[in-house]
Amino acid sequence: MGDKVRGVRAYEILDSRGTPTLAVRVDLEDGSVGWSRVPSGASTGRHEAVELRDGGSRYGGRGVRQAADHVDRIIAPVLVGWSAADQAGVDEALVGLDGSDNKSHLGANTLLGVSLAVAQAAAANVGVPLYRHLGGQAASVLPVPMLNVLNGGVHADNTVDIQEFMLVPWGAPTFPEAIRMAAETFLALKAQLRARGLSTTVGDEGGFAPNLGDDREGLDLLVAAMEDAGVAPERDMAIALDPAATEFYRDGQYHVGGRALSADALTAWYEELVGAYPIVSLEDGLAEDDWEGWQTLCQRLGSKIQLVGDDLFVTNPERIRRGLAEKSANAVLIKLNQIGTVTETLAAVRLAQQAGWRTVISHRSGETEDTTIADLAVAVNAGQIKTGSLSRSERVAKYNRLLLMAADDPGLQYAGRAAFA
Ligand code: PGA
Ligand code: ZN
Repeated sequence: MGDKVRGVRAYEILDSRGTPTLAVRVDLEDGSVGWSRVPSGASTGRHEAVELRDGGSRYGGRGVRQAADHVDRIIAPVLVGWSAADQAGVDEALVGLDGSDNKSHLGANTLLGVSLAVAQAAAANVGVPLYRHLGGQAASVLPVPMLNVLNGGVHADNTVDIQEFMLVPWGAPTFPEAIRMAAETFLALKAQLRARGLSTTVGDEGGFAPNLGDDREGLDLLVAAMEDAGVAPERDMAIALDPAATEFYRDGQYHVGGRALSADALTAWYEELVGAYPIVSLEDGLAEDDWEGWQTLCQRLGSKIQLVGDDLFVTNPERIRRGLAEKSANAVLIKLNQIGTVTETLAAVRLAQQAGWRTVISHRSGETEDTTIADLAVAVNAGQIKTGSLSRSERVAKYNRLLLMAADDPGLQYAGRAAFA
């Protein structure tokens, strides 16, 4: 089949924040080529696999020349001659070459770059889209997008504590209709901000980043924008929040909205918000090691809304297993670079799905034109994807990829409300 690896080469390129990241090119014997570009976070969980950076003064220490060098000198010689169709074997070899618990030796960014490029090359070799290569005939669901249209926290230099306010067009009949509704709401939100004399500049994920009086004002703005756009709040479109609470957790307290709250008090505030707004999903409502708090949060809100662990689980099967045993959440955020290889990511998704948990495939705040996560979401029938706002091409590229899939493959059905059932 000519699917053997002929060469692997790494490059230092830039992500959407002007920070270096890795691109990897895999060439197969038959001339097929696979490319990957690696994402990178800002509100990074401390249990994530380690991203290798050069240190020193170049690019403020964030260069990835060492990672590129590892690909060229250590990984490439091992992979040459390997069948690209053997993703599991390749990924096992990568993990073995690294040899550490947290990918700190070669770097999770290094491993992911190679792992993804191999997957892309293998798909090119058999002439099918990546989602079909990874998901086979079972891949059939277009995800509900969660569009992060208001940015705060560490993703923006404003007064807003909650990192992400997202539109969830779950009532749309099709994926393209979901995007249209969201785009019209996004523009209505811009008009709302203008009318109130608020800034319409955007944050790292393409959402607006105005200074607001408090976090409730963000929710009010979203509902007002939906109404202006002719979209029915709750029926057509819901709201998802990612407070990224680890970022405002210090000394046992949550420092949010000018107050210092216990986990219980913060949970009570979330209950109040869920009662007042069409909130359907809450991600990282509490901090990454507050297992006790998460359990209480889940007891109080788990039957009403989706509770998603991002920094809590870091796409790590071991931490997801603990969450399942302790009933800490009912959904997992999936980020390839938190764990480091395609195979381990698929295992994390499978584990969550088999337990009846929902999965949300996610971008990072540092992104590139790479659209792999759109394919991944369809490949595993994740049902949900979050990949930023409807501005900044590194975000829109993923939605565009899904729009093309929706047009080209009539067999794919929009997940809609069922993704949250
Ligand atoms: P990050 O944020 O990519 O900066 O970690 C995304 C998230 O918290 O979901
Ligand atoms: Zn998050």
